[in-house]
Amino acid sequence: MGNDRQKGILYIVVPCYNEEEAIETSAEKLLDKLHELIRREIVSAESRIVFVDDGSKDRTWEIIRRLFEQNEEIKGLRFAHNRGHQNAILAGMMYSRTYCDFTITIDADLQQDINAMENFIEEYTNGSEIVYGVRNSRNTDGLFKKLSATLFYKMMTLMGCDIYENSADYRLMSAKALAALAEYDEVNLFLRGIIPNIGLQSSVVHFEVFPRMQGKSKYPLSKMVTLAADGITSFSIKPIRMVFMMGILALLVGVIMIIHIIYEHYFGYTVSGWSSILMSIWVLGGAILLSLGIIGEYVGRNYLETKHRPRYFYWEVLSRDQDRE
Ligand code: UDP
Ligand code: MG
Repeated sequence: MGNDRQKGILYIVVPCYNEEEAIETSAEKLLDKLHELIRREIVSAESRIVFVDDGSKDRTWEIIRRLFEQNEEIKGLRFAHNRGHQNAILAGMMYSRTYCDFTITIDADLQQDINAMENFIEEYTNGSEIVYGVRNSRNTDGLFKKLSATLFYKMMTLMGCDIYENSADYRLMSAKALAALAEYDEVNLFLRGIIPNIGLQSSVVHFEVFPRMQGKSKYPLSKMVTLAADGITSFSIKPIRMVFMMGILALLVGVIMIIHIIYEHYFGYTVSGWSSILMSIWVLGGAILLSLGIIGEYVGRNYLETKHRPRYFYWEVLSRDQDRE
């Protein structure tokens, strides 16, 4: 590995889930970019592209294998089954960290502008250990994605998580930052929150986002909800505190109700109807259910963490550095 920050070894990490339609075009563009960076002596000639197949059910792995056979710059990792985008990125980075000086992670559909890579590397050369990619706008997203993303980032900030709004998983990490990340062994993984938590010197690069050219989004609503829940619960116990506050509030309302009832009783107005009773039953019932749900979420996550199961393991590795595997 290089001693100084000039011409370091770059590993580009690309998570892929059912990307048979996108991966070939993307590989071609990434290879062009890598060759250009090597030719201009921005990165070392030992730089590589690592495709992480997140348990795809289509021909993705076959294509990665072929790309590997045809290009010595390409490596492949394969999960036995789908472990999710965050785990795929993490596996790629953890695999790469013994070989490289820094990694850049990017989605397989190359929606993120690969020409921003030079800017990432420049920030790294100037001393940053972590360079965050922040998207310029969300014009290419549908209204739903735009709204849900805005809501998500607002929620995260409210919950006390240190996060860059609109930061994507397009990011540069130095070997030092990766070593720090390796120390976090939580199952409930939310990289966008954990990485700022490392606290090493960092900077931000803005980039454009393009519409997806091939294939469909691999992020259905269910996966977005899981990501949001992971994000919030892994960073904050504020929701539990909110439950507590809600309890106090409900209690206060109860006390006021009792005073009100006593007043009615002694001053003999009509017996107040069942509507108010029914209403409090619903309000309280709802509050109780909600609170139980939030607590249950944390208990469940605690259970997942205490089991200490591996987050992933490789099923197959395609690499020419067999002596080091
Ligand atoms: N991805 C993955 N595992 C999953 C879902 C997605 O590795 O379970 C990868 C996917 O192949 C892509 C990246 O994560 O490289 C981002 O997914 P996508 O482009 O579908 O998300 P969107 O851009 O629609 O948010
Ligand atoms: Mg995409």
